[in-house]
Amino acid sequence: MFGTFFTEEHHVFRKSFREFVEKELAPHADEWEREELFPRDVFQKMGKLGYLGLSVPEELGGAGGDYWYTVAFAEELARSRSAGLNMSLMVQTDMATPIIAAIGTKEQKEEFLIPAIRGEKIAALGISEPNAGSDVASIRTTARKVGGDYIINGAKTFITNGTRADFITLAVRTGGEGYGGVSLLLFPTDTKGFRVARKLKKIGNHASDTAELAFEDCRVPARYLLGEENQGFYYIMMNFQGERLIAAISSVAGAQLSLEEAVRYGNERQSFGRPLMRYQVWRHEFVQLATELEAGRWLAYRASDLFNRKQDAVTEITMAKLYCGELACRVVDRCLQFHGGYGYMDEFLVSRRWRDIRLITIGGGTSEIMREILSKRIGMG
Ligand SMILES: Cc1cc2nc3c(=O)[nH]c(=O)nc-3n(C[C@H](O)[C@H](O)[C@H](O)COP(=O)(O)OP(=O)(O)OC[C@H]3O[C@@H](n4cnc5c(N)ncnc54)[C@H](O)[C@@H]3O)c2cc1C
Repeated sequence: MFGTFFTEEHHVFRKSFREFVEKELAPHADEWEREELFPRDVFQKMGKLGYLGLSVPEELGGAGGDYWYTVAFAEELARSRSAGLNMSLMVQTDMATPIIAAIGTKEQKEEFLIPAIRGEKIAALGISEPNAGSDVASIRTTARKVGGDYIINGAKTFITNGTRADFITLAVRTGGEGYGGVSLLLFPTDTKGFRVARKLKKIGNHASDTAELAFEDCRVPARYLLGEENQGFYYIMMNFQGERLIAAISSVAGAQLSLEEAVRYGNERQSFGRPLMRYQVWRHEFVQLATELEAGRWLAYRASDLFNRKQDAVTEITMAKLYCGELACRVVDRCLQFHGGYGYMDEFLVSRRWRDIRLITIGGGTSEIMREILSKRIGMG
């Protein structure tokens, strides 16, 4: 499990974070899934322990670690038994805030990033709209410059942490049509004219909230613009890399746990007078899946290594998101099948894992979009 990229320090971190997950998160997962939300103080507790800013420089309140801490974090978080909880946390750490650390002003970091690292503010990433998901360049939410402010009008949908975020890293249209007219703004949710239009019901990831948001003549100061006006599309594509990479890493980690749980189940469950694991057909299938998971993990590690060294990793990250996501869905599906009727029951964790993992080939860019990106990257179109 501990490959060439992990040092003794990573190992120590992994061990203590695993204990935290097993003691503070996993025992509550069933309750949080039922309630379709986890308490806000989870953010605060994790912030205090330094878990929400692992790769952020120390002067900004982060731990100043390299990317391998984030990899260990995502792998251990998979033990929480709740992908919804994990998704909410990773939106905070790896999706809504890295762009602030990368291009934010000192004031923006103080007002938004540092409180998010401390777990005092909850962050969301607002890109998708009712009519623009994969096609980010066609978003319609507008931000019109009036004096020293932007006036925002429009709608966002599928926004994780959307019902209770304190701020949103928001994609808006400040210019003409297409990708050249998109900007990123930091949007405080106590702004007049903002409302949570509805909390969405979904197949899985129940412990995280997902919302549709409405913006009506919301006025925010122009100093909340992230980076340069009309450069937002590039920032979003840059930010997607971390989001897709962590999705790949956590999907392999979750699928690996699912496989281990299935093997334990199969050593107990009897059929026709012997444990299920004694049937060669299953052993061979699980060995095959374990081998593919190992391949997926190393693809994600290869992408992580490039990402960690700030090299161009777009091709490797896109491949990892595509391969690991689709593989994880297949692995968990076969694990459910292996459990027979019990696999279909809520009381068995595999049924939750199966519902939850389905998101992986959709969120953060679909598998089809990954193939589109790759076909351009590797010179096919
Ligand atoms: C639970 C959940 C949480 C989410 N959280 C967030 C969040 O926090 N913030 C946020 O901004 N978004 C979030 N999303 C949105 C997510 O990123 C989008 O759902 C995703 O990007 C796909 O967009 P779409 O749903 O509009 O599908 P569409 O873009 O309408 O795609 C529909 C189908 O068409 C396919 N397709 C589209 N274009 C092409 C093409 N060129 N070639 C081939 N096939 C194509 C797609 O692959 C897909 O299968 C979340 C989604 C879910 C379900």
